[in-house]
Amino acid sequence: MKIHEFQTKELLARHGISVDAGVVIGCGDAAEALVSSLGSVENYVIKAQIHSGGRGKGYFADGSGSGVQLAHSRAEAVALARKMLGNRLITKQTGPAGCCVRLVSVGPGTDFHREIYLAIFMDRSAGMPVIMASSAGGVEIEERPGNVLREYVCPLAGLQPFQSRKLVFSLGFESAATRESFMAILHNLYRLFDEKDASLIEINPLVETADGRLLAIDGKAAFDDNALFRHPDIRILCDLQGEDPLEIQASVHGVNYVALDGNIGCLTNGAGLAMATMDLLHAHGLEAANFLDLGDNSGPGAVSAAVEILLGADDLRCLLINTFGGAMCGDVVARCVTDVFAEKHVKLPLVVRMEGARAAEGLALLRAEDDLELFVAENLRDIPQKIREALGAQ
Ligand code: GDP
Ligand code: MG
Repeated sequence: MKIHEFQTKELLARHGISVDAGVVIGCGDAAEALVSSLGSVENYVIKAQIHSGGRGKGYFADGSGSGVQLAHSRAEAVALARKMLGNRLITKQTGPAGCCVRLVSVGPGTDFHREIYLAIFMDRSAGMPVIMASSAGGVEIEERPGNVLREYVCPLAGLQPFQSRKLVFSLGFESAATRESFMAILHNLYRLFDEKDASLIEINPLVETADGRLLAIDGKAAFDDNALFRHPDIRILCDLQGEDPLEIQASVHGVNYVALDGNIGCLTNGAGLAMATMDLLHAHGLEAANFLDLGDNSGPGAVSAAVEILLGADDLRCLLINTFGGAMCGDVVARCVTDVFAEKHVKLPLVVRMEGARAAEGLALLRAEDDLELFVAENLRDIPQKIREALGAQ
């Protein structure tokens, strides 16, 4: 689960990391009053709050500048905030459709002489958190990946003082006091990452001001969904507007859904079979539009919801059902599919490989449907061939 920049900054502040001030404004809020509460300010920075990075280099669909803008008066700050609200911001991470801005932050602009990149993320291939830091942070960080230092942290031992020293000396701080502050930030950031089961916490930039203070002026965080049950304080930060609506629908029905880039909708049961299906398609040059695992949900309600969720994906060219019935019966799946197809007037070809409980009954039900463009795979290996036939038949 991702959270917004202003929420990340609140967490950072609660963990002893200094952040810049600011107010958050939504549509319909009293923008003037909120901006006035900042007091007398020389410059303002106005930022779109969306669950995507790269706002500074992004652009609004109507051509009104980027997602991070500076203003020199209160009135200009309010006008910019109003312009961003309800507008679509397109960044490298949102894709061409962009993301609708529903919240903006306005704060006093910060003067600094250096931008540092500091992040901790869970490196799954290494099986441990890695701290990444660079003395050349800011919006160009992705263009200079070679400058980023990496320090892997053993999750059992935690961050060791020698690791903090290694990083702090590589970043070239001039004063001992700034080095001390950086060590404290690193320690607090790792504690936050570890305590809250984060998968990513990024500060880019952590700025160094002329008087040697370090301040987080941007923050990004994501948390392990499977650990949210033990962090109610994080869970309440969830902004459903920023999430994929199909993923929300899936979580309501207790099914596991992950949107992918291909055009074959996949309904499977059990994470193992779902992953094997993904691998099989990929090995044959076919790309799944999503990963949908019914999990333990064998009732008709969940199966029908799952089929509807699958059909909600963009650019679908065919639907694959690959199930191995245990608690879940083939005839229940078949009936749900035919009902949803009939109700929604779906014309997609359907590739089916069905095994296990009441699979024969399920296949018979599907074969009896004259309107269905059905391709039955005899076994797992037969699936790619049947998908090709289905795609060719369109
Ligand atoms: P991002 O593009 O989504 O990462 O958004 P950021 O909040 O990091 O802003 C992008 C860039 O705008 C930063 O890297 C800074 O260079 C610049 N920026 C952001 N806030 C301020 C500010 O208060 N003062 C100044 N001078 N620059 C800022
Ligand atoms: Mg940034």
